[in-house]
Amino acid sequence: MLVVQKYGGSSVADPERIHRVARRVIECKEAGNDVVVVVSAMGDTTDDLIDLVKKITDKPSDREYDMLLSTGEQVSIALLAMAIHSYGHQVISLTGPQAGIKTNEVYNKAKITNIRPQRLQAELAKGQIVVVAGFQGINENDDITTLGRGGSDTTAVALAAALKADVCEIFTDVDGVYTTDPRMVPQAQKLDSISYDEMLELASLGALVLQPRAVEFAKHYNVLLHVRSSFNHNEGTIVKGVDQVEKERVVSGIAHDLNVAKIALFDVPDQPGIASKVFKVLADANVNVDMIVQSTMRNDSNDISFTCPHDDLKKAIEAMEEITKTIGAKGFSYDEEVAKVSIVGAGMVSNPGVAAKMFEALADEDVNIEMIATSEIKVSCIIKASQVKLAVLALHNKFELEKLGSSVKS
Ligand code: ADP
Ligand code: ASP
Ligand code: MG
Repeated sequence: MLVVQKYGGSSVADPERIHRVARRVIECKEAGNDVVVVVSAMGDTTDDLIDLVKKITDKPSDREYDMLLSTGEQVSIALLAMAIHSYGHQVISLTGPQAGIKTNEVYNKAKITNIRPQRLQAELAKGQIVVVAGFQGINENDDITTLGRGGSDTTAVALAAALKADVCEIFTDVDGVYTTDPRMVPQAQKLDSISYDEMLELASLGALVLQPRAVEFAKHYNVLLHVRSSFNHNEGTIVKGVDQVEKERVVSGIAHDLNVAKIALFDVPDQPGIASKVFKVLADANVNVDMIVQSTMRNDSNDISFTCPHDDLKKAIEAMEEITKTIGAKGFSYDEEVAKVSIVGAGMVSNPGVAAKMFEALADEDVNIEMIATSEIKVSCIIKASQVKLAVLALHNKFELEKLGSSVKS
């Protein structure tokens, strides 16, 4: 078999853990598999590098930013290769560019456009274990790019797809994908399996355990994902195509996202073309708009609210200062202290009343809902950031998620 394994930052946080990962990789190799290993930067290295940038400038060049951030993973691959070597195994480390990972031009959140796996395949053919730096690639100008936070997941899945690996194992610091963040809710249950679609929603709605792009790739190329702990040998969660069990689950999981800011425009003239102008300036400013709500007309004017990530708030405010004048709106306000809580479940489509049940659970805890968005398999609400934990717990109880899953916890 060909196995791609990915180890996250906490799994390689110190020399002892790097040795533990080395032994786990060797175990897989000795079982007769070809092994490609993707690693993240050690512990909080990426955060530390970002803090370092802030001490130098608040306007770093995007190119140099990626040049710096990519160094974290380079440290890990070299150390892991040395550790594997120390046990007498053949191993080689490769940076993203050396592994043939090509991306588009966009620094900081580049997308993988192509993988040239020849070098990697040649090393595997020689019997080497190959250790690849996650989170990085190279663009058409031959400059290093990074893939956005959590991007090593995507490196692993993309390599698994390009190499037609039999499985892509994502090793992390929890036993698998849970009904909600197990660090926030101790009653959270590990799911034995989940479909790409539900996983994609959970990841996009704030469940950190996998980068959404990685799930998209896995779905597109049909890569079998196994999310599991690097600290024990328990079976984790299988992410795959349609999941039979899942159809019986009305709600499979709850996600929360604190990286949300809300902006409200007041008294916007009720005319065709206004929304298009507002969201055009936001698009031009590269603001990632998420939820949008337009209230009903009063005296020929509306209110329009939307949300975006915290990182984009500054750009959004600048854009709103400009556009309120152009369109003749009365003004705007913003709120950084909001969060999004979401319920996700493939069974929702065929079960009426799920949204009502969610709103009831929130109302019972006096949680005010500021915005609502729905799709076939999710309902999301914007609430006060300070009430997130309360809300997630209430929803976990209401939908009886402690009864799901098999849950052997680490
Ligand atoms: P890594 O460094 O291995 O990539 P991350 O910190 O990126 O690890 O992701 C793992 C974390 O995701 C867990 O420690 C957990 O707190 C968080 N998490 C959030 N939602 C979930 C969920 N539904 N299931 C499992 N983990 C979750
Ligand atoms: N080191 C990068 C980050 O912290 C990539 C990753 O861990 O997946 O976001
Ligand atoms: Mg991660």
